[in-house]
Amino acid sequence: MEPAEFRPTHRCPLENLNEAIVDSLMEFRLKGFPPAHAQAAIGLFITDRKPRTRSLITSVCSPPIIGVPVDEQAMSGGTVVANEQSLQDELNPFLAMAKRFDIASDQLGLDHGVREVLRRPDRELSVAIPILMDDATTRVFTGYRVQHNFSRGPCKGGIRFAPDVSLDEVRALAAWMTWKCSVVGIPFGGAKGGVICDPRELSQGELERITRRYTAGIMDILGPDRDVPAPDMNTNEQTMAWIMDTYSMHVRKTTTAVVTGKPISLGGSRGRTEATGRGVMISTRDAMRKLGMNPSESRVVVQGSGNVGGIAAMLLHREGYRVISISDMYGTVLNENGLDMPAVMAWLREKRRLEGYPDADHMPNGEQLELPCDILIPAATENQITSQNVDKIKARLVVEGANGPTTAEASRTLDDGGVMVVPDILANAGGVTVSYFEWVQDRMGYFWTEDVVNSRLEQIMATAFEDVYTMSKKRKVSMRIAAYMLAIDRVATVYRLRGVFA
Ligand code: NAD
Repeated sequence: MEPAEFRPTHRCPLENLNEAIVDSLMEFRLKGFPPAHAQAAIGLFITDRKPRTRSLITSVCSPPIIGVPVDEQAMSGGTVVANEQSLQDELNPFLAMAKRFDIASDQLGLDHGVREVLRRPDRELSVAIPILMDDATTRVFTGYRVQHNFSRGPCKGGIRFAPDVSLDEVRALAAWMTWKCSVVGIPFGGAKGGVICDPRELSQGELERITRRYTAGIMDILGPDRDVPAPDMNTNEQTMAWIMDTYSMHVRKTTTAVVTGKPISLGGSRGRTEATGRGVMISTRDAMRKLGMNPSESRVVVQGSGNVGGIAAMLLHREGYRVISISDMYGTVLNENGLDMPAVMAWLREKRRLEGYPDADHMPNGEQLELPCDILIPAATENQITSQNVDKIKARLVVEGANGPTTAEASRTLDDGGVMVVPDILANAGGVTVSYFEWVQDRMGYFWTEDVVNSRLEQIMATAFEDVYTMSKKRKVSMRIAAYMLAIDRVATVYRLRGVFA
């Protein structure tokens, strides 16, 4: 039987989505169909019609849902996800990564075998995480760890906790980590992890139990010489301390180098918290010089005011840039004369959201990216600049603080319009660079001053920017494709030198 002969069988509300997908897979697998057919054949009706939900379904199912015939009767009251394939594909982060990978590989003339190896993750682990909740019930969460490539060294990459974590998202983020480490020349491969959960609904105790059980579940593939996690969305220093402790208890010795982004008192590095934002500031400054733009005359719009966006905006303000707008997930503030960034950040620290900030106009988030400005820094989350809004972007320079904020389709439009885009795998590599410094310091047992950390970060970021810029001019490609080319070429070189283990 072919996938196209299957009919959508499940109808579910959003909160049961992951269970429904797992159930569907099990059902098809139990009937003896091969996994690829089973995955392709799942058709889920959902009661939530938001595009983000539909993109979530696509990204959970790999390959994406295809060829599912529409059963008109069953459709009443639901949405068939197969209809919006092109937008779903555009928003699928793994497909977005693969498109850039293919273009860069073509430019490099990468041979078929190496291309096949580097296009897919080396290892994927999915774990069930049973947790005793505060109300004495038991819930089972799902966690992933994907190791994309470890040719150049141990894997490195964050762990995120979010309700819309999916395997394809984690795969894409893991691959981006491989390219990111390679672009800045640090000796790591790429990995990423995630747990499907909503941290806003969980107590501190529940979060700790999830973290520890997840760590125990993926323990066999972790370690300072194997895979070194770090914080990502909704995880932080405390999460890293729990992972470090759980790992250390299992291996019977304190092993600080198993994670980075730890508290300084537990082997963390000075300068790590600011490192990603600092790297974004350095990339912005270097791109401005190439474009002949003047900081004091440049209007900057920053999407997101967390670790990356907030700190990048602060540092740019300190360097004399006019930051006219910044946002959080609830709304956007705007002041054409330039925001007083220290005051904005002090407000955020106290109130937890920008809402009510006095010295600015307030507007909904949807319009922020379209504001007239010179520099746009998307530093919140994926898929923010898409084919749906790219025509309204007015910036001359886009510096990607977030991972995957621009879809492949939108990238093409920006390139065609002459907008310089400093891609995520370069612009936000400051974080992993100082994570590398943390790992080195933990292994030496000797810790550097913040000035040493910052100047070494500056050196690495500036060199990587120059390497990518030179490649883009030499090969007449965008900064993004140049960054992929540099990164892929370095990984491919190591791969060929090591040879295929058999
Ligand atoms: P964070 O949780 O500290 O901050 C995210 C910010 O984005 C918050 O201010 C949140 O309110 C805001 N936000 C979320 N959705 C939004 C929306 N639709 N519109 C406007 N604002 C929105 O996270 P972070 O660590 O700053 O990470 C942001 C991005 O940068 C993620 O893509 C992450 O993977 C990437 N990144 C982070 C690091 C790091 O070291 N933290 C390193 C590399 C890449």
